[in-house]
Amino acid sequence: MKRLLFLLLLLTVSSAYAQYDYEATHRKSLDQVIRELSERFQTRLKVEVDTVGKWVPQADSRIRPYSIEESLNNVLTLFNYKIVKQNPRYYKIKPYEPHRRLPEEGKRLIDYLTAVHYQNDTAASTRLQRVQEEAFAIIDREINELRAWTVSNAEPKLTKKRTYNGYTVQNFCIETLPGLYLCGSIYAPQRKLKKGEQLPLILSPDGHTSRYIEETQLRLATWARMGAVAIGYDLVGYGESALQLGEQVHHSVLAQQMQWMNTRILLEWMLSREEIDPTRIGLCGASGGGTQTMQMGVDPRFTAICPVISLSSYFDGGCPCESAIYLPAAANGTCNAELAAVHAPRPLGVVSDGKDWTAHVPEIEEPFLRHIYRLHQAEEQLAFYHYPNEGHDFGPNKRQAVYDFFGRVFHLDLHQADEQFVTIESVAQLRCFGANGELLPEEAIRSIEQLPMYARERAKSLR
Ligand SMILES: [Zn+2]
Repeated sequence: MKRLLFLLLLLTVSSAYAQYDYEATHRKSLDQVIRELSERFQTRLKVEVDTVGKWVPQADSRIRPYSIEESLNNVLTLFNYKIVKQNPRYYKIKPYEPHRRLPEEGKRLIDYLTAVHYQNDTAASTRLQRVQEEAFAIIDREINELRAWTVSNAEPKLTKKRTYNGYTVQNFCIETLPGLYLCGSIYAPQRKLKKGEQLPLILSPDGHTSRYIEETQLRLATWARMGAVAIGYDLVGYGESALQLGEQVHHSVLAQQMQWMNTRILLEWMLSREEIDPTRIGLCGASGGGTQTMQMGVDPRFTAICPVISLSSYFDGGCPCESAIYLPAAANGTCNAELAAVHAPRPLGVVSDGKDWTAHVPEIEEPFLRHIYRLHQAEEQLAFYHYPNEGHDFGPNKRQAVYDFFGRVFHLDLHQADEQFVTIESVAQLRCFGANGELLPEEAIRSIEQLPMYARERAKSLR
């Protein structure tokens, strides 16, 4: 019996040792694997990740002699790293980015969605309703969690109106959470309204610029001169929000949640005003503001939307304020292009350029959107403005595009789409609480630590 036990023990130890030995002899350092692949395929590999102490088990078994990409993917996926192809002989190795895929992957997703969900108008309606409901439910849940602290009966406050050539500007602040203010400026046509006359509204969430820069002022003022009420408001952690919460808050889940809430609060405030026409409610921002446009645009109260330099099937928005809460997981897998499609058959404008993730709109996303709008017999409600030689900005051509889009769908005066009559204001003029927050009320919060516990935790989540 004793001998049998000894033999069993010996067998167990030796087999464990053999397994350990097997692992050890077949592993290579990540550095070595990358070096060998670079030599084998005569390809430059630029490493932009931490490789220290990283080992690749069964390293040689992961190599495919016919493909450097397959080989690298087999290795890098172990460490949550990925390749970014610069040219056939040059790749960068970077951390995995949940919000960024390859254009080919975007195309495959679009082909899949088209084949499975958009064969006919009935299927399309069912699918779009599901995407709308699920995306809206996620946004609604996040907003409501924050709004549990919304101050009741807190009326928005307006500052004195400034009058310029054909338009007025008035700053506003709304207490959204106790002691926390959303600030912005309302640009409106200067003329007196006829009795019962209503104006269209365009909410314009910022990208990662601000409402104080010249190009934003030009845009908001020009929309107002054309006949719309246009509103610019601070991103969370930008402008007057930074005076209350600091800039760092922008890199947290709270930023996305609060930006959704802010847009919702503005929408509802404006809809409560009798001079606003509920049948002409627009949403239009660029870059991160474009992401907000597609996300908040699933709210059916927006009647026309226009994402600028943002719509893509393979890029969801790279900032936590755009994709910390992962909306593309809705409806069993979607993307920003399909979120925008939810808007069918209502007017949808898409502004794109040749140097970012909107570069493939004419080949990938435009045919998809055209197909969906055609199924709704509403192709004329789509407008594409593609600038292949331009980059990621909201420059003059792209501003003319959004003047054209909203001018046509909201019946504005296109003759006024001329920026030369706009007066550029100073940052101090555009602020509610003075250039450095000196007019903030006594009870206003001045740091994240003064937020309610739930919001404080969310603010810490990604920092
Ligand atoms: Zn952001």
